[in-house]
Amino acid sequence: MHLNPYGEYAVLMAASLADDWPEDRAGIEARTREFGMTMDFAEASGDHRRTRGVIDEWLRIVDAGEPGERARLLNDLMAQATAYPRLTDHGQEGWHIHYRDEANDSLPDVLRAVISVGTALHLTTRGIHRLSRCAAGQTDGDPCVAVVVDVTRNGRQRYCSVRCANRAAVRRHRARRSSPAR
Ligand SMILES: [Zn+2]
Ligand SMILES: [Zn+2]
Repeated sequence: MHLNPYGEYAVLMAASLADDWPEDRAGIEARTREFGMTMDFAEASGDHRRTRGVIDEWLRIVDAGEPGERARLLNDLMAQATAYPRLTDHGQEGWHIHYRDEANDSLPDVLRAVISVGTALHLTTRGIHRLSRCAAGQTDGDPCVAVVVDVTRNGRQRYCSVRCANRAAVRRHRARRSSPAR
């Protein structure tokens, strides 16, 4: 598998798992295929639950707005991944770096390594603030808890979708109209 220079696919995969959690292990594996991973994972009975744990830890990084705290949580996650980087050229993919332990190909452990390093690449190359929850959901009573991975050129994506951006715009408009200061 490749981690492109920006770590983009790994972060988008983590967001997809967080936003739309698969109901079983096969669903998680299918999601890794969707995002371009090609490897086979060793199967263990706790895979589904343990992968959920990895995603929950990753969501703490998403929710840590302060850069120092965000870095600390991410460093913790990378430390648990335990591997040193290795050059590999399996499957005619060309030489690339793996950040995971070659001896451990369990689904949760590989995803922890790929997602944590991918997130570190994303935040350091694109910008430390380019990972958040959808801004629409930050208004009381709004149900959106989706993750926003900002890979836009200008780095100003705040909403997970056009629908959420529109809902927030309507709210702002109503707030202005009912404001006594108009
Ligand atoms: Zn690879
Ligand atoms: Zn949203």
